[in-house]
Amino acid sequence: MGQKGREIVKMDVDELINLLNRALSDEWLAYYQYWIGSKVVKGPMKDAVIAELTLHSTEELGHAELISARIVQLGGTPVLSPEEWFKKTNCGYDSPEDPYVEEILNQNIKGEQCAIRVYSDLLDITRTADPVTYNIILQILSQEVEHEEDLTALKEDLELMLERRR
Ligand code: FE
Ligand code: FE
Ligand code: MG
Repeated sequence: MGQKGREIVKMDVDELINLLNRALSDEWLAYYQYWIGSKVVKGPMKDAVIAELTLHSTEELGHAELISARIVQLGGTPVLSPEEWFKKTNCGYDSPEDPYVEEILNQNIKGEQCAIRVYSDLLDITRTADPVTYNIILQILSQEVEHEEDLTALKEDLELMLERRR
């Protein structure tokens, strides 16, 4: 742990590490929700949806990378066990019991909207207290906003296609 790097953080570092571990738990659950969703999804526009879900899963894993690296930099320990994910998560996990495309899209849109809220709050908390974490969270938030838009656009295309067929 870099001593000076930790010293410049103007908030309770343990509290910050805890918030980052909560976000890390969300990212792993989001990763798996997208990944397993891409394996089971069924219905119209399946191929386009699979491509987006697969890409998003790898991007969520990238967020987990960024957050865990920051936790280690701050002298913390990233969550060590998957059991912890369910204790710490902000956004939870929606298992894709219904594999229909629209249902999978709805579940993931809900997840992204939760992620946007969580990261937006984290930006407020870190804005002046910890610009290094702020910068990381800003990168992640920008991608969550993109994810929400990608899924919403797919859902709109799906609805348009189904309307035209009537
Ligand atoms: Fe993410
Ligand atoms: Fe996302
Ligand atoms: Mg995308």
